[in-house]
Amino acid sequence: MPWVQVRTCEASGVVVAIPRLPVGLSESEVTATLQTLIAGLLAQRKIERPVLWYYTPMMLLFTRGIEAAAVVYDMDELADVDGKLVPMPINRTTLNLLYGLDLHDDDAAEAWLASRAEPVEVVKTSEDVVVSAVGRELYETFFQGYTRKQWGLDPSELDKSVTARVPTRTNTDDRYFTDIFQAMPLEGYTRMFERMLDHENIRVETGLDYRDIVDGVSFDKLVYTGPIDEFFDHCYGPLPYRSLRFQHETLDRPWFQSVATVNSPAEATPYTRVTEYKHLTGQSHPMTSVTFEYPTSEGDPYYPIPRAENQALFKRYEKLAQARPDVIFSGRLATYRYYNMDQVVGQALATYRKMDRIQPVIATELPDIAASARS
Ligand SMILES: Cc1cc2nc3c(=O)[nH]c(=O)nc-3n(C[C@H](O)[C@H](O)[C@H](O)COP(=O)(O)OP(=O)(O)OC[C@H]3O[C@@H](n4cnc5c(N)ncnc54)[C@H](O)[C@@H]3O)c2cc1C
Repeated sequence: MPWVQVRTCEASGVVVAIPRLPVGLSESEVTATLQTLIAGLLAQRKIERPVLWYYTPMMLLFTRGIEAAAVVYDMDELADVDGKLVPMPINRTTLNLLYGLDLHDDDAAEAWLASRAEPVEVVKTSEDVVVSAVGRELYETFFQGYTRKQWGLDPSELDKSVTARVPTRTNTDDRYFTDIFQAMPLEGYTRMFERMLDHENIRVETGLDYRDIVDGVSFDKLVYTGPIDEFFDHCYGPLPYRSLRFQHETLDRPWFQSVATVNSPAEATPYTRVTEYKHLTGQSHPMTSVTFEYPTSEGDPYYPIPRAENQALFKRYEKLAQARPDVIFSGRLATYRYYNMDQVVGQALATYRKMDRIQPVIATELPDIAASARS
């Protein structure tokens, strides 16, 4: 008989509920049983509209029917391996699900991975990083096809930093990032930026190339966040970037997948991941919107490609940039680094701190050069 083992921690008062299920249930029976047990527990304790704090996306299946007062959701991603959804980055749950193992603790998972790992004398490439840590089979399953699609290059041709960003865990932590604080702006990023830019000294002009207006503006410092090679008219040749084609679809069904983002590491699947936004916003609607990401070498530059020869080319542009004290090159494209948002914000704040003195340009004093550039 399935049952819930409940114990209360004396010191903290925290109640821990552990479901106990009979051996041999199918996946759908496990889900249905857990749903019944959780519903029973909430009813018994008279808990209405609880706050749901998801530590693992695997819980989403069991709690879908619960009406929550608030949902706290760390950014989780799963990978679709031959139709089976497993945590990505690889952790102990991934190994247990994929290989039907019963690795109980970190030591067991570490020993299992060590038995698969193939030592590499000098770790240079993205392939070396993974093969030396988890072995060739997991490398091929999770990294080789995905990297080839994402970067248009084999991991053996890419700097070790690319796959070194993705951890391999021996615990069951299946959050994508492990930062203590992870959150979405309450009203979304658009509203957040609208508020940040709502200042009398700031005038926003979009859909314009800065070159169309730069000659008409007087400034002490120009902050440039576009591609550095473009700034110098590609005088040493173009720096390679990777882009994405987003395919947005609205589907006439309440849900498409069980978590916000599902990666498809198989090379045969042309897209790299699918994101279903409702999971992140907590929105309730009979239909759902999803986005498929198809990597491409054309389109807006998104990702600087980390390779030694690209770094060498960037260094030549960087020399030119150093000879321009009137321009601050900041951000992912202007410094040709594969940064996440928090790192880009950190870089911007550090740059700001280093600036001697900021001379604000009063927007109302600017001529309307933007309008003339557009016409
Ligand atoms: C699909 C995708 C998913 C991501 N997911 C995450 C995530 O989950 N977490 C995370 O932390 N990070 C994520 N990132 C990374 C994050 O988006 C970047 O780190 C961040 O946007 C970099 O900020 P930035 O200001 O350096 O560059 P950008 O946001 O690219 O801004 C550069 C700006 O400069 C403008 N510009 C360029 N050239 C010119 C020109 N000639 N004239 C005028 N304007 C110009 C561009 O239009 C752009 O608005 C993701 C990136 C992508 C592509």
